[in-house]
Amino acid sequence: MVTESADDFAGVPDGFERLWTPHRMAYLGGQDKPVDGAAGDGCPFCRIPSLSDEAGLIVARGAVAYVVLNLYPYNSGHLLVCPYRHVADYTELTEPEVAEVASLTRTAMQVVRAVSAPQGFNLGMNQGEVAGAGIAAHLHQHVVPRWGGDSNFLPIVARSRALPELLSDTRTRLAAAWPTASKG
Ligand SMILES: [Zn+2]
Repeated sequence: MVTESADDFAGVPDGFERLWTPHRMAYLGGQDKPVDGAAGDGCPFCRIPSLSDEAGLIVARGAVAYVVLNLYPYNSGHLLVCPYRHVADYTELTEPEVAEVASLTRTAMQVVRAVSAPQGFNLGMNQGEVAGAGIAAHLHQHVVPRWGGDSNFLPIVARSRALPELLSDTRTRLAAAWPTASKG
């Protein structure tokens, strides 16, 4: 395992070097990656909403966007907020999509705080494959809860697929804590 030293970076070390590596912020491994970037069954973020919440690991459904657990979490409770529409670029979102992605992101933070009391979050979108998007064709916002010292084990977590039973448990807890009015 290659670890990065804070001494290799300019500026003030903030402890995020090993986690906040955008090239690793992919949703899925290569075997699940869409071939051509087209909408439809080839795109996981288009396909997931047609599944049950349990099968799709969906935590909440809004009017134009939904919240799903990342299959390859960097931390327990790593969520993705996706518009239903197959859109790649943030500037292509409609106003209602911008508003709901934002409001679902805020509710996701509140729910994860209530369930697992993280000390902080990383929020963000990777725009384009060059910027680290695993599925560049369908925009998704990461909501990653953070705890002090979690970067010590994250490189290991990031390389191993989480057990489906654990993801299922996490989904159940987060969905139960999601406010009813926001379920859409
Ligand atoms: Zn899609």
